Amino acid sequence: MINEFELIKQLQSLVQNQNQAVALGIGDDAAVLDPQLISAGQKIVLATDTLVAGRHFLEQDKPEDIGYKALAVNLSDMAAMAAQPKWLLMNLTLPEIEEQWLTGFKRGVGELLGQYQVELIGGDTTSGPLTIGFTVLGLSSQPKKRCSAKAGDLIVVSGELGSAAFALNNPGQNEDCDTQLKRPIPRFDISESVKDYAHAMIDVSDGLVADLGHICEASCLAAHIDLEKIPVLKAIKHDPQWRDYVLAGGDDYQLCFTLAPKDANKLPADCAVIGHMKTGDAGVSVYENGQTLDVKQSGFDHFG
Ligand code: ADP
Ligand code: MG
Repeated sequence: MINEFELIKQLQSLVQNQNQAVALGIGDDAAVLDPQLISAGQKIVLATDTLVAGRHFLEQDKPEDIGYKALAVNLSDMAAMAAQPKWLLMNLTLPEIEEQWLTGFKRGVGELLGQYQVELIGGDTTSGPLTIGFTVLGLSSQPKKRCSAKAGDLIVVSGELGSAAFALNNPGQNEDCDTQLKRPIPRFDISESVKDYAHAMIDVSDGLVADLGHICEASCLAAHIDLEKIPVLKAIKHDPQWRDYVLAGGDDYQLCFTLAPKDANKLPADCAVIGHMKTGDAGVSVYENGQTLDVKQSGFDHFG
């Protein structure tokens, strides 16, 4: 078995040396970024997420899937801000250092680092129950906030919703859903193309009603959405719980954003208008073929 220092050396193989603003990467007491090497007008956007074995994933999950997903959900926060991810800090708590596990984990993380050209610049390693914490730093010229929705805005979601929740409840039944749960793709394609006109934006991690509810609360508005307008994989609709998966199931990591109706013609493919923002403080109202649906407003609450 290797020790902590050998492990850090192994993690250094993930470093790609592609980000010029890194004045000092892994190996010292701290990493150093040089703001002079960051283009003028760019803001630095930071997000962190922790994934705990038994809570967010199972210890017996494939290590490459664990690494991939832990980073993907973090990157999704960058997409939700319309930021480009640039630098990464990785906090690893491992029960033991198992080389085979580490190789798989590194493969999962490395896949995304390469794809989005993110530089690993540091982290921390401790022993304990398997926990992965990533801190991503990115750049955005116009970060998208939850508080920027306007009354009359259209509400848009990317992709399909409910797939990950279906897979969580019916593992192995639908390959697309299993992939959505295990290997979500952060929607930088969408955030890049809508960043000039989207108002408020959020990623759907805790369930549509809960996450859109955050936009409502932050923007002091209410939302009206029509269930039949939400894109859903046909394959999940035979499940009596499909509405719950779509409205309250988390883990899809699609984007939900608002925009002025005049900009609707600019929407890229794989986006659907599902409703509109309105004045009021009633949160999210959901309709199915014109009839109100009674839905819980809260999403997943770790302490609930
Ligand atoms: P210190 O004791 O000063 O905190 P460490 O031994 O924790 O130093 O870390 C040494 C170097 O290795 C630091 O540059 C740190 O950022 C990096 N490092 C430690 N763990 C990780 C990790 N899991 N991923 C990336 N870099 C790491
Ligand atoms: Mg340390």
